[in-house]
Amino acid sequence: MLQHKAYPCLEIDLNKFRANVAAVKERCDEAGISVCGIVKGYWADPKLTKIVAEAGFAQMGSSRLSQIDEMRQMGVKGPFMLIRIPMLSELRDVAELCDYSLQSSVEALQALNDECLIAGKKHKVVIMVDLGDLREGIWDKETAVAAAVHAEKDLPMLTVAGVATYLGCYGSIMATPQKMADLVDIAETIEEAIGRKLEMVSGGGSNAYMLIEEGCMPEGMNHLRLGEIYSAPYTGLENYDLVGKVPHIDSDVFTLKAEIVEVESKPSYPQGVFGKCEWGDVEGNRYVDRGIRKRAVLAIGRADCAQPERLRPRLNGIEILGASSDHTILDIEDCTKDLHVGDVLEFGLEYSTMLSLTGAKDVLKVYKE
Ligand SMILES: *Cc1c(COP(=O)(O)O)cnc(C)c1O
Repeated sequence: MLQHKAYPCLEIDLNKFRANVAAVKERCDEAGISVCGIVKGYWADPKLTKIVAEAGFAQMGSSRLSQIDEMRQMGVKGPFMLIRIPMLSELRDVAELCDYSLQSSVEALQALNDECLIAGKKHKVVIMVDLGDLREGIWDKETAVAAAVHAEKDLPMLTVAGVATYLGCYGSIMATPQKMADLVDIAETIEEAIGRKLEMVSGGGSNAYMLIEEGCMPEGMNHLRLGEIYSAPYTGLENYDLVGKVPHIDSDVFTLKAEIVEVESKPSYPQGVFGKCEWGDVEGNRYVDRGIRKRAVLAIGRADCAQPERLRPRLNGIEILGASSDHTILDIEDCTKDLHVGDVLEFGLEYSTMLSLTGAKDVLKVYKE
């Protein structure tokens, strides 16, 4: 029995998280934007999920049905929204477990209607449109309007709750007032076609939230689906050049602590005949000959953290050189502190590192209240 395991560990500051959630809620309320609280970025961690649920957002959501199921078992009150366009194979559960879902295919809309008939439950669908980021969403605007009209008129178990989009995920396209206005336009066309107002025009995730901070969210946008901005908002904040960033949002909810298992001065350029290696081609892991440099090896790797190169060292002068499944290699030649085997280093997280570390089996979670 493992009795003394301490590292790697993830320290989670619940007060900072709660304050971030409250600050985001307050600003969205002021802007007339209702919010679906998204829990996928931290695997619906029960303590964090509870805080989001208590904030009183309009819905709770995840990309994964398993997490929606967990929230229900935790006693979280819905309504629940599935934000990954569904697999046909999961529609039976979507009908049972979710109140809302994002949809981008007529096949799924029709099959969902059938499942809802069996379950005897009505369901609200949100039509996903692609505004240029090229992940999910109906590309052609007329096709999107037609899908909404079809769902409204021909599929009796479905109600069209609105339209939605997502930017900044595959195509690196920023949420701009123009993109938001494009979505409002599509919503208005659908409203004309079906002869009633839509409940929701859902402009996206945390990058779209930044338009509220900048005071330029267009009229007509009334909903967002938010996870990153109150949990690990580095990338989100850095995309937008707000002077002094956003003072009421704390980027340090999560702190990763990992232990040094080796400190050695070594050449910076590998020696021998180059072949292929499992991890060597990862972007950013280029070998540059900088002579002999002091290095440290951390006892954490890609098995715990998908992209260790994106960890943010809290000490100055640390460079992340590369990683394999269980080791992360640092250049510490210029570190402001003299480091030794057994020292524990701290790192801040951004979305991608939060995502894998909160789901990692071998990383302890320590909550700070
Ligand atoms: C992940 C996701 C969100 C939430 O985005 P955040 O950046 O975490 O706020 C919203 N909508 C969809 C479709 C998503 O996949």
